[in-house]
Amino acid sequence: MNITERLHRIWATLPEGVRLVAVSKFHPAERIEEAYNAGQRIFGESRPQEMAAKAAVLPKDIEWSMIGHLQTNKVKMIAPFVSMIASVDSDRLVAEIEKQAARCERVIDILLEVHVADEETKSGWDVEELRAYIASGAFDTMPHVRVRGVMTIATNTDDESIIRRDFEHIRSIFNEFKPLFGNDFDTLSIGMSDDYPIALEYGSTMVRIGTAIFGAREY
Ligand SMILES: *Cc1c(COP(=O)(O)O)cnc(C)c1O
Repeated sequence: MNITERLHRIWATLPEGVRLVAVSKFHPAERIEEAYNAGQRIFGESRPQEMAAKAAVLPKDIEWSMIGHLQTNKVKMIAPFVSMIASVDSDRLVAEIEKQAARCERVIDILLEVHVADEETKSGWDVEELRAYIASGAFDTMPHVRVRGVMTIATNTDDESIIRRDFEHIRSIFNEFKPLFGNDFDTLSIGMSDDYPIALEYGSTMVRIGTAIFGAREY
């Protein structure tokens, strides 16, 4: 199967209203172009330099989504064009996005990345710390940051019950935070190539799929 065929297969499995982020990290621009020509518009990248380089040569109506850990000093590089930063995991990063978005006279959509997985090494906010940060009213002072929802990566395991536990957990966090942010807060980003059918059962509104579209990545 080629990229176009794989995309059509995946689209057919997504309920209406679920957006697909085609995770194109480590794949060359030509492969993104093939997905674009098939009709895909949202692409996910994990490194700012790589995203900026691809954005420069690919169609301007692509919506670029940053899904990898983002260092504060790299926000500047993507602020002029990035559509969503889905991996926001610290107060320092939020503050820097506000600053750079203001400078570009833009409002940047963000997702709060929450740590729910077993692995110590997984990125994302500790839930308690995030609760306290939201309660501090910090977002009220950031007109250039629009909080659209939450994102997480489930535990990397073959044990489906653990993956379900993680998705149930993030769904409850999404439901807890939603009333605090209002109508803009509509995105629950869960599900990757191996677990997105399960994520859909837990109300995912945005799946992030790489390997199942583009094949294995070469690092
Ligand atoms: C790489 C990556 C994905 C895509 O993973 P696949 O297993 O290739 O679908 C999704 N989300 C995040 C945060 C990633 O870093």
